[in-house]
Amino acid sequence: MYQSFIGLEVHIHLLTKSKVFCSCKSSFGDEPNTNVCPVCMGYPGVLPRLSREALRMGCIVARALNCTIPKQTWFERKQYFYPDMTKNYQISQFASPLGQRGYLDIEGRGIKKRVRIHECHLEEDAGKMIHSGTVSLLDYNRAGVPLLEIVTEPDMETGEEAELFIQQLRRMLRYLEVCDGNMEEGSLRADANVSINLPGKGLGRKVEIKNLNSSRFVKLGLTYEIARQSALLDAGKTVIQETRLWNENRDETAPMRSKENAHDYRYFPEPDLPIFEPDSAFLESLTLGELPAARLARFIAEYGLTYEQADLITEEKQCADYFEKAVSAAHPLEKTTAAPLVAQWILSDLKHLLAQESLELNQINQGRLRAERLGSIVALIAQGTVSQKSAKQIIEHIRKEDRDPRAIIRDYGLEQISDLGQIDAAIEQVIAAEQATLAELRRTENDKRKRNLKAFLVGRVLAQTEGRADPKIVTARLNIHLTEGSE
Ligand code: ADP
Ligand code: ZN
Ligand code: MG
Repeated sequence: MYQSFIGLEVHIHLLTKSKVFCSCKSSFGDEPNTNVCPVCMGYPGVLPRLSREALRMGCIVARALNCTIPKQTWFERKQYFYPDMTKNYQISQFASPLGQRGYLDIEGRGIKKRVRIHECHLEEDAGKMIHSGTVSLLDYNRAGVPLLEIVTEPDMETGEEAELFIQQLRRMLRYLEVCDGNMEEGSLRADANVSINLPGKGLGRKVEIKNLNSSRFVKLGLTYEIARQSALLDAGKTVIQETRLWNENRDETAPMRSKENAHDYRYFPEPDLPIFEPDSAFLESLTLGELPAARLARFIAEYGLTYEQADLITEEKQCADYFEKAVSAAHPLEKTTAAPLVAQWILSDLKHLLAQESLELNQINQGRLRAERLGSIVALIAQGTVSQKSAKQIIEHIRKEDRDPRAIIRDYGLEQISDLGQIDAAIEQVIAAEQATLAELRRTENDKRKRNLKAFLVGRVLAQTEGRADPKIVTARLNIHLTEGSE
């Protein structure tokens, strides 16, 4: 068995309105070459101007990753030629990255690990090459979009750990509102480095898998690569240090190029940008709010949710906000009584509704089915005012009519029936109509069959009351009727 070492380089697009060194719009999906100017097209003689917003977002991430922000941070030119980068150098950071030596704790699915962060640095993205038949097209809209590169130490050991790292990093970045985390659109891209070695021998010779655009591919690519390298060493061969690409159609990695070294890039300080020295006002402006890991732990401790519930609900900040609002609107229920109920509604019916109509939670949040309304429905169910079944009807009415649950319950007569007289009357009607079922119930010796027949009768009684009767009372009364009837 070999020991494996995985280090990730994650590139994220920062959600600034403009590009990092000019005032062009930084957005995805526009007509090609519409968000460009002499600066991001790399015309001779133009001067870059650093976006303070990009710097602020980069430093927020550095903070959240427990990195040190140095007293001075500056930029270098990284020289290389490629048609998607007209200047023939990329403005990046080399000697003084804006975030240094931090860590991210990842936890879940049986994994608990501290992954050290080597650094995070700010740079500009390149343009996009589109290969079409025998020609290649260039779109420079992406040139100059702010990128933050986050580099980990080789602290992970499996594809699963790397996948969890990406997922939890992504969730955190979305909470911080500095990156939309959309891996398909390339707002978050990962390069995965992996080596293996005999235990105790330290790092092996690494292979880099480039441009993985989903966390699942990170896992699959690394798992494949660890197996490939193990087979090489088993056969007495050596691993070649190279860059490989994940082929998602063939589920394997393939060589792309042999890797260049840092000195090939001829880094030198960017003369057109001043050194940045963050002052105390800047540092104080870097507020993080509650990060997802802390919120998940709090949801378990404060609301008594299970890990799975808390994990799903805190996945999106808006969902977590919605949850907390709904719980506090469910008075007079205790938090710990309301919370699991609200969680169930969100994770079953609401998720369904969102998927069905491809809505976003914030649309629901500000719209008809806002958190306050779900909170009061949950309270009304728990207090026995309405049945679970009617609650679904109430939600349908709210979506059509945009009114409060109480008004709907009143106007449609949806209160739960707990009145014994009404329930007994419904039971008698069902018994009269279901003589054959009753006869079978008396005859059968099979317990399971008996239970099924009784459940069927309860269902008939509920239907008779249009789902408004309290199922517990119906079951109890029906049992009494049946024993009385058989005497
Ligand atoms: P390079 O100079 O080739 O870019 P770096 O030292 O900057 O390499 O590391 C890039 C990434 O590769 C980091 O995430 C680092 O943790 C990881 N890494 C470096 N050496 C190894 C190795 N031997 N095995 C696995 N990962 C490694
Ligand atoms: Zn521009
Ligand atoms: Mg490097």
